[in-house]
Amino acid sequence: MTTNLSLIAIDGPAASGKSTIGRLLANQLGYLFLDTGFMYRAVTLAALRAGIDVMDETAVTALAAQLTIDVTSGEGWTDGRHYTAWLNGEDVTWALRQPEVDRNVSQVSGYPGVRQDMVRRQREFGRRGRVVMVGRDIGTVVIPDAPLKLYIIATPEERARRRWQDRQAQGYTNNYDAILADVQRRDTIDGTRTHSPMRPAADAIVIDTTGRTIEEVVAEILAIVHDVTYTL
Ligand code: C5P
Repeated sequence: MTTNLSLIAIDGPAASGKSTIGRLLANQLGYLFLDTGFMYRAVTLAALRAGIDVMDETAVTALAAQLTIDVTSGEGWTDGRHYTAWLNGEDVTWALRQPEVDRNVSQVSGYPGVRQDMVRRQREFGRRGRVVMVGRDIGTVVIPDAPLKLYIIATPEERARRRWQDRQAQGYTNNYDAILADVQRRDTIDGTRTHSPMRPAADAIVIDTTGRTIEEVVAEILAIVHDVTYTL
């Protein structure tokens, strides 16, 4: 398919399916895929490793500014990764998925200084064009002029079930109720923070993935991409 959409913004809550959908969409369109949550996770991991209290906004913000954070394609790896995340030159792809990072990342991502820094880095990616960018504030803050904005949702129970399956496959011992509580806690923090709260852009198309397969949803979005291409 050819298209002249150069930026697609996808937002939504944790485990709504947005990253899987974004990645498949990017593959189909031949676009770059940028899952911005990895950057906030990288800052969180760096703080935990450095023994910095994640409640210490000044220290976490200063640390974030010093980090080298990068992402490369996941091709050539056999461990199921979709991309490789780099923190100061080290492959941290799987370290970013630790439950301890899950538990602390919403605190870190609420700091305005951390957000400003990460948004600047994300816009640099966006300038390359032909990017599917996934996060919480892509359509509202990072690239508000993206020609197509999607907001992907699913019920908290369905999202907790998906996260439970992911973590199980990654070898962590998991408790569904604890994951559901974490998903709901992160929804509240991400949705009520004063700086760039998670919400759909006014012109975003909201897609509910509850009870639907990823393939169905991707097919629906490709049809939308096709329509937008012809109406631009
Ligand atoms: O998408 P993922 O679960 O990896 O995101 C981890 C956390 O990073 C989210 O809970 C949210 O606090 C933060 N985040 C954000 N803005 C983004 C992407 C992620 O605040 N654009």
